[in-house]
Amino acid sequence: MQKGAIRVQTENIFPIIKKFLYSDHEIFIRELVSNAVDASQKLKTLASIGEFKGELGALEITVKLDKENKTLTISDRGIGMTAEEVDKYINQVAFSGAEEFLNKYKGQTDGANIIGHFGLGFYSSFMVSNQVEIFTKSHKDAPAARWECDGSPEYQLEETSKEDRGTDIVLHINEESEEFLDEHRIQSILEKFCKFLPVPVKFGDKQLNNTNPAWTKKPADLTTEDYQNFYKELYPFSEPPLFWIHLNVDYPFNLTGILYFPKINKSFEIQKDKISLYSNQVFVTDEVKDIVPEFLMLLHGVIDSPDIPLNVSRSYLQGDPNVKKISTYITKKVGDKLDEIFRNDRKGFEEKWESIGLFAKYGMMTDDKFREKGNKFLIMEDITEPGKFFTLEEYKQEATALQTNKDNKLVVLYATNAVQQDSYIQAAKGKGYKIVKMDTLVDAAFINNMEPLWDSIQFIRVDADIADNLIDKEEKTESVLTQDQEAKLKELFGQIPQEHVKVELKGLSADSQPVIVTRPEFMRRMKDMAAVGGSGMSWYANMPDEINMTVNANHPIYQQILNESDDDRRQKQVRNLADLALLSQNLLTGADLTAFVNRSVELMGGEKRN
Ligand code: ADP
Repeated sequence: MQKGAIRVQTENIFPIIKKFLYSDHEIFIRELVSNAVDASQKLKTLASIGEFKGELGALEITVKLDKENKTLTISDRGIGMTAEEVDKYINQVAFSGAEEFLNKYKGQTDGANIIGHFGLGFYSSFMVSNQVEIFTKSHKDAPAARWECDGSPEYQLEETSKEDRGTDIVLHINEESEEFLDEHRIQSILEKFCKFLPVPVKFGDKQLNNTNPAWTKKPADLTTEDYQNFYKELYPFSEPPLFWIHLNVDYPFNLTGILYFPKINKSFEIQKDKISLYSNQVFVTDEVKDIVPEFLMLLHGVIDSPDIPLNVSRSYLQGDPNVKKISTYITKKVGDKLDEIFRNDRKGFEEKWESIGLFAKYGMMTDDKFREKGNKFLIMEDITEPGKFFTLEEYKQEATALQTNKDNKLVVLYATNAVQQDSYIQAAKGKGYKIVKMDTLVDAAFINNMEPLWDSIQFIRVDADIADNLIDKEEKTESVLTQDQEAKLKELFGQIPQEHVKVELKGLSADSQPVIVTRPEFMRRMKDMAAVGGSGMSWYANMPDEINMTVNANHPIYQQILNESDDDRRQKQVRNLADLALLSQNLLTGADLTAFVNRSVELMGGEKRN
């Protein structure tokens, strides 16, 4: 028997590591099963190049629980180790890895954060064990070896008898870690980390992994159904995806995976963190924040890359050149896919736009390259003709003649609520304008972002001004009223005790509304942004609503009102017209609304109430 002390500088390496690893104890299973996978794959490789001539047999990994003896055993039928190899790989390599880790992160406080991404390998078994045994028999003709260590730097290594080739790692679970003697706990950990490992993993006679997940196959070998079935395997309770992208690169970095575009339902919360990161089919994390661009976090699926460094801290990950390249690559693939669907299946693209649009707009706001592509496939729906969509180019072609303002900018008119803004939409439509729907949660930000980037385009919400003024063309329509009549009308409207209301008389067409209330585009946008919590915007939230009230002097009702002899009645009629306009914009509330109702009843000949 050989006895020895593991050559580490720090005497008390175990308690330190234990403390570091506290929050992430379960990863020891991932590490040990990964080692078993590696050992099995290595033997396969040796067999394929003729260096191993024996029987491969069924290469599978088994996980066994023994509650009585409080052990958890992970067994493989891989290459195994000779006693010399145990000395070299376990005593030296494994422990030097642990020591390196300690030296690197000594004094850091966010150990828990680092640890999930640090392959501590075999060593992590000591987090949950007060003793670890290795029984191993090499594929080479050599005696089997037994290694044992109780968590101090002292180990024992001796010859033993073992029939089968391969390695059993026996963990004697310590008192604080008895959760790992629970079947369900082990089952769920295995399901999390081992679901797609390339070597069968069995727990209680049941194989729990799919060794051939769709992303590892060639796209040409997969049918639509295969992709859909794999999605179901990943998210059993989700609606079918809209479409998907199969990632497959091996230079300058290695990356495979499938990203799915989920159906997004406006009324549901957007689900982030639905992409899982794997490294050679070993589950690593659900947090792909630093690898996938923010706007693509809404996608679902799997990314597998052995090139993403997992053994370093998050802040390092952000600066990693491979991670940057991967992020750029994914963005490009998504842009290409959208472009392809748009060109090959415009109708299908339009039908899916409610979901796609969200990605597309997020992407265009955050990524210049993506925007270049997006400028071609971004579509906007005609609010007066559901199902009709314009690209930016198409909108230009249809609207330039009528909707170019005096600064030579094309005014894109939009509405956010077809019902509430109906009268404005109808008025603008009456003038031959095209109004697009911008009613999703990104649209306000999208408009603000695109305006400075898209030369010579200006967005104006359809109720930002009266239809005649939406496109600022410096044209004037004459009022049919005499100067005296205009003065009288101004005086009547001037008596309305509303703060922050600017009244203006205009000669609009006779079939336009008698009074039109609008909120200027700029102020409304600022207040909208403040309402959703834009930083530094709270000042706007407290600003009073600024309202423009346009009185259409050409509306025939004013002839009638001006001819009215009862001054009090005349004043009330004017007041009611103003209130009606406010009401249509949802701006009449509380006591003002009550007064309006009472006044209306009175004007209709009812009793005056107090
Ligand atoms: P890593 O796997 O990152 O190299 P580990 O500490 O997990 O580090 O393991 C150290 C070495 O021990 C491995 O590289 C391998 O050579 C050997 N080893 C670990 N587990 C097994 C196993 N089940 N079968 C054969 N060799 C193993």
